[in-house]
Amino acid sequence: MTTLGLDIGSVAAKGVLLHAEQRYTTVIPTGWSPLDAGNNIIDSLVSKANIEKEDISNMVVTGYGRVVHQAASKTVTEIKCHARGVAELYPEVRTIIDIGGQDSKVIKLSPEGKVIDFSMNDKCAAGTGRFLQVMANALGIDVSQLSEAEDLTETVKINSMCTVFAESEMVNLLATGTSRGGIIAGLHDSVGQRVGSMVKRLGLEAQVIFTGGVAINQGVKRALEKELGTNIIVPDGCQFTGALGAALLARDLLS
Ligand code: ADP
Repeated sequence: MTTLGLDIGSVAAKGVLLHAEQRYTTVIPTGWSPLDAGNNIIDSLVSKANIEKEDISNMVVTGYGRVVHQAASKTVTEIKCHARGVAELYPEVRTIIDIGGQDSKVIKLSPEGKVIDFSMNDKCAAGTGRFLQVMANALGIDVSQLSEAEDLTETVKINSMCTVFAESEMVNLLATGTSRGGIIAGLHDSVGQRVGSMVKRLGLEAQVIFTGGVAINQGVKRALEKELGTNIIVPDGCQFTGALGAALLARDLLS
């Protein structure tokens, strides 16, 4: 049975194809057209697996761009897809922290892997991947370089919560000669505190997993572990958890 999960996010579109006991993955920038992004992912995955589109038995789409694929396939919320993906990979996990480009989510799971409760910040860029992208841009580096550039010996506290004000604060700090690596450590701490407080409000329960594109950043993982006082799992392919869950739900729907 061959199934496909698409997670069309605000920044990146991700796809997972489950075929012949293999897992194929593709990630591309979402760009201006979520529909094109989804179709490009499908083309890439069938080519990687050397199959035809007609060989796909079922497809589930999630992410902010899921509405545009509504006519073609079943859509499921990101919360459900993340829960399904994580329950498959790490059944012992009770708390999921997912930080994407445009929102951050905390999801609590039952021992059976069902969603018990969740909390989401999608009203403000603080504590999301967008916050880190804006800051990396102002520092003249790519978001993927933030982690290695942080300097924990000179951590600087960033006081502004708002992304726009935090950017001005950072520019002022740089102008007065403050260490760049120390500022980056402070930015990671700021995301850790913001999302960590969401986790505490919902109730921290081990084990904790960190997913989404921002989980690639080891500095944010470090900051969250400091804030929560617990070890956090970052799975291989952390950005694909939602798409994997979608592909698994597509398979579940056939049985
Ligand atoms: P969405 O589903 O909203 O598109 P993702 O879960 O794909 O979001 O995460 C996108 C975010 O992940 C970006 O805003 C960026 O901050 C972060 N990111 C992506 N790639 C990397 C990387 N290589 N290193 C560090 N952070 C990354």
